Amino acid sequence: MPEAALRVCALYPDLMNIYADRGNLLLLERRCAWRGIGFELTSASVGDRVDPDAHDLFYMGGGQDRDQKLCAHDLVDTKREALHAAADRGAVVLAVCGGYQLLGRSYVLGDEEIPGIGLVDLHTIRADGGTGGRLVGNVAIEVDLPGTPGPRVLAGFENHGGRTHLGPGAEPLGRVLRGHGNTGASGFEGVRRGNVLGTYLHGPLLPKNAWLADWLIRRALGLEAALAPLDDALEDATHRSACAAAGLPE
Ligand code: GLN
Repeated sequence: MPEAALRVCALYPDLMNIYADRGNLLLLERRCAWRGIGFELTSASVGDRVDPDAHDLFYMGGGQDRDQKLCAHDLVDTKREALHAAADRGAVVLAVCGGYQLLGRSYVLGDEEIPGIGLVDLHTIRADGGTGGRLVGNVAIEVDLPGTPGPRVLAGFENHGGRTHLGPGAEPLGRVLRGHGNTGASGFEGVRRGNVLGTYLHGPLLPKNAWLADWLIRRALGLEAALAPLDDALEDATHRSACAAAGLPE
């Protein structure tokens, strides 16, 4: 049995999983296993309470507006305090697209406002105009995360009707190189507050950006030292292909 184990809690894996966002969990599991790091996966869906101290990493994928509504109210009612407590003690929270939107203060869809858990200072407004108002396509952003040697690229795919506006207390995850990002006009993508990350990038995100998976594992386990290197030939090729799809030069 490996000594260290990454304890992951998947939030609403049954409802918040579009564009194969669950693949992010699989990649985390594999990269831990290949290094002899244990991996414990728990899921928490509607009605389930979460223990803020029992998990190193909380994960929520993307979802349709309808599923998001269900989750939003449940998140606020049964999980908000625990997620704040977990984030405050440095647990990693990774949320993609619909999940990302729910980390903020609210998501406004026409006359309706669905609540977020206020883990980060942002709000989202769905654009009018049906499908024409969606921001869709391949995307590449530049991010500069602590503990990394310098700026790096994340590449993925976005498809969202919501425009996410960061408040004065929020830092973006990255700068848009190609694609739309948070609003299509701000030049920013995602959000980061310490170990809390939100992003519109599907793909899924981590198989296309394995280096980010390693950063998350390190942060979640509180490891100072870099993780043991792996043979990433396939992962690097996948990353290059996602960057090329987004229109970045080789
Ligand atoms: N329903 C949200 C939107 O359209 C999120 C979509 C998603 O997770 N891809 O903005």
